[in-house]
Amino acid sequence: MESGRPFRAVFADTGNEHELTYEYVGRLHERTGGPKVEVVRADFTEALRRHRDYVLREWPKQGIPHAIVAEAAALHEPTGIPFLDLCISKGRFPARMSQFCTGELKEIPITTQIVGPMLRRGPVLQWLGIRAEESRNRARQRRYNHHESGAVIWRPIRHWSVDDVWAQHRRHGLRPNPLYAMGMQRVGCLPCVNCRKSELRAIADRFPEHIDRIERWEAIVSAANKRRAATFFPAVTDPMDTEHPGEYARIRTLVEWSRTTHGGRQYGMFFEHQTGGGCSSDLGLCERA
Ligand code: SF4
Repeated sequence: MESGRPFRAVFADTGNEHELTYEYVGRLHERTGGPKVEVVRADFTEALRRHRDYVLREWPKQGIPHAIVAEAAALHEPTGIPFLDLCISKGRFPARMSQFCTGELKEIPITTQIVGPMLRRGPVLQWLGIRAEESRNRARQRRYNHHESGAVIWRPIRHWSVDDVWAQHRRHGLRPNPLYAMGMQRVGCLPCVNCRKSELRAIADRFPEHIDRIERWEAIVSAANKRRAATFFPAVTDPMDTEHPGEYARIRTLVEWSRTTHGGRQYGMFFEHQTGGGCSSDLGLCERA
């Protein structure tokens, strides 16, 4: 907007977002005076149909009882929640080492629904608001690169610090997404499969209904796959139960673990050190002027 160039603003809705994020994105144009943010959603109707056909055709040949096949097949009706539909169609949740969610829920819908049609009319410069300080992976990304779609990717705030981000908010009289002041360290999926222990605890404390939702999703994805097990976070050694190493780490177990101190056995008496200096936000938002 400062450069005066026309642009479209796009948000990929994963279906695993907090309601405050939907509210923030839906009304952002009123605060900025810019264009309304367009929302894209991945559609897994076809992937679910294909996988249901596979379940009905192949599982009986593998000796899987009829009742289990029928239950799994019935769960392949699209829910319209991209994240959940993706997991049902894959029979699992994404993970750090198999992070198919980013591509399926964000890159592909933005490329096919927004960038592709624009490219047919001319060149596209695609801005990404990510910063090098956010992760090692992001630090490795260049300021510009060509995307396989044909667009040029530009990361204009790649070198910004967190302070730069909040300074820009103040400059334009914009309040940040309120989730930051509530202890969330990122406002993408809630939770993200890569979320930290402290972040999971903050989500469980502030938004227990979202933990309930993930628990329901775990039950659905479990019933829709052959192993009859699926956990939102990867199946690692359960930190609360050394007698059964490797047991699936269900969300409830990990929430309990998130309330413990280092080692996973004792419950912390004090808040862990926060970089915000006592503020529950990792970014120190409550201390902002
Ligand atoms: S925010 Fe996390 S869970 Fe959501 S799409 Fe990105 S990596 Fe996956």
